[in-house]
Amino acid sequence: MTEHKVFLKPKKEESLLRFHPWVFSGAIQSVEGKPEEGDVVEVYGANGRFLGVGHYQIGSIAVRILSFQPTSIDTAFWEKRIQTAYELRQALRLVNTANNNTYRLVHGEGDNLPGLVIDIYARTAVMQAHSVGMHYTRHHIAEALKNVLGDSLQNIYYKSETTLPYKANLDSEDGYLLGKDADNIAMENGLKFYVDWQKGQKTGFFVDQRENRSLLEHYAKGRSVLNMFCYTGGFSFYAMRGGAKLVHSVDSSAKAISLTNKNVQLNFPDDPRHEAFAEDAFKYLEQMGHNYNLIILDPPAFAKHKNVLRNALQGYRKLNAVAFEKIQPGGILFTFSCSQVVSKENFRLAVFSAAAQAGRNVRILHQLTQPADHPINIYHPEGEYLKGLVLYVE
Ligand code: SAH
Repeated sequence: MTEHKVFLKPKKEESLLRFHPWVFSGAIQSVEGKPEEGDVVEVYGANGRFLGVGHYQIGSIAVRILSFQPTSIDTAFWEKRIQTAYELRQALRLVNTANNNTYRLVHGEGDNLPGLVIDIYARTAVMQAHSVGMHYTRHHIAEALKNVLGDSLQNIYYKSETTLPYKANLDSEDGYLLGKDADNIAMENGLKFYVDWQKGQKTGFFVDQRENRSLLEHYAKGRSVLNMFCYTGGFSFYAMRGGAKLVHSVDSSAKAISLTNKNVQLNFPDDPRHEAFAEDAFKYLEQMGHNYNLIILDPPAFAKHKNVLRNALQGYRKLNAVAFEKIQPGGILFTFSCSQVVSKENFRLAVFSAAAQAGRNVRILHQLTQPADHPINIYHPEGEYLKGLVLYVE
């Protein structure tokens, strides 16, 4: 238990009683015990009722609730939460099957662990803290992780330099908390890929597109594919396995292009169907001909904050409009948005405007989202972020 206590203003306990895991700073009446950022605090209503226990933060979200019951936040707590998360992934049949050893083990609020992300690549866990509380607790979490996963886990790489709050002024050094013998080849649905967790974006691979890549494979036969914003080439090697006629991968980052080439080589050595180009998306799309009949658009988040939403929607409209103009008749477009602040409805509206602007006859074949190892806590709808549409363009 903790001596740090946060008391809310009258009537501000509503959302916590409905298990929403954030306390906003404006809801706080008083604070006892001088907690510092990252400390564990207990939260009480104005009437003195216990509401939850969580990590204290400086910022508009002041507390991220770890438990709505009075609980000690100790190794046993972390172990229990990670065990629950692990059992879910086992039920999803993602854990060390003959075909797959890559999955998200912990997805923040979606696993009742706000501020923590853990991805598993074969024998390595990549752990990312998004809050100071999770950063301070990283060694306890690593211990718990080791206890739950046992010998199947050999390395834990901690990677939080870019995800911790900038103002916290921590000298977080990324590095191994366990092991270090990097075996960077992992497998997703039977396809191999090389993960660079030290230098790559996010934890090294975009695990959240697994099911959408599978769906793409199903549509790829005989098609000419453009994988725009390819990063490590995930959609490209699925398209190749699906029997695509040719696959072009494009990303503005030269590092991403070299990873894509490496991954294609791992699965389809010297296959002449694939080529990769380090180019800006808009430039490539404007200059390319009408050569493709399967296009993937998976851009980075255009809006990171609500106040840039309008610009982001314009960005999605423009990007999709060029794809609609260029795709061959009978073409299929896989288009995504991973901006949390862009709703499903807004994204669909932006794509609708793009289709209308290009004057194409377009039908929605599938509406896609994030996979089950990125679960959405029903009390925290903000956890829904990935949206996709598969469109048939006449
Ligand atoms: N589809 C990928 C993930 C895409 S992440 C997968 O399945 O793994 C977004 C990618 O867009 C990043 O690799 C980034 O380098 C790239 N990117 C960002 N801005 C770009 C631009 N203007 N043109 C082309 N690529 C860009």
